Amino acid sequence: MNRKYRKTVIAGNWKMNKTPSETKEFMSAFKAILPKGRWCDVVFCVPAVCIPAAVRAVRDTRVCIGGENMNPNPSGAYTGEISASMLLDAGCKYVIIGHSERRAMGETDEDVNAKVLAALEAGLTPIMCCGESLEQRESGVTEEWISMQIKNGLKNVPEDKMRKVIIAYEPIWAIGTGRTATPEQAQEVCQGIRTVVRKLYSSKHARAISILYGGSMNEKNAAELLAQADIDGGLIGGASLVPEKFVQIIEAANPAPLQPEEEEPVEETAEA
Ligand code: PEP
Repeated sequence: MNRKYRKTVIAGNWKMNKTPSETKEFMSAFKAILPKGRWCDVVFCVPAVCIPAAVRAVRDTRVCIGGENMNPNPSGAYTGEISASMLLDAGCKYVIIGHSERRAMGETDEDVNAKVLAALEAGLTPIMCCGESLEQRESGVTEEWISMQIKNGLKNVPEDKMRKVIIAYEPIWAIGTGRTATPEQAQEVCQGIRTVVRKLYSSKHARAISILYGGSMNEKNAAELLAQADIDGGLIGGASLVPEKFVQIIEAANPAPLQPEEEEPVEETAEA
């Protein structure tokens, strides 16, 4: 984390878990133990049908709600799909784009790029995911693969919209497996992502972008991962379904007190 230059974001990805009633129950348990300090942005990306219940429940808090996916088209004959403006109107501020579970269903880098552009156009903060498979890691192509995913995903994203983009590095082999990347492995790739952003945009953009790690992050390993210089938060699946675990991860994002010269406010990414 580097709170001088960028925001720390702890985001949950509920995937296909919880009903609207369970969302209401979860949120009341979560709110009862949510720490008071505002040291990171807290987001829950929830199933589409849970968005209204989640938005209602967090209305009196600093917590934001996001979608788990979206269609890049503004409207039309796309049965079962949800547009960026629908998410926004429902009260979402964020949307996960390009999660490996959606890529496994056929989503391409081009689709990811179209969704990122549409999300930004609508005013949502995209959490754009990237990550390599175990085979790719073992064959030594991780850096090249991630760099390509980032370049393709950010194609035509204008400089002024980049301040809204969040990138999540999620090694596929670590998602839902209980096998976390070591802090060093995660830091190496997140640093590499920042270098790609620097080359595509500028040092200023690279310094300002929040890069999250995702892949079996939990209440036990979060502090060590978040202590890495280029890991600005987490995208958390399993552990975001349990209020106590998620709160412990938020607490792990509570760093040592800021040095006096670091106490400048960081610009809000997604809050109205
Ligand atoms: C995810 O779904 O993005 C994820 C990282 O899941 P988990 O934390 O369960 O590995």
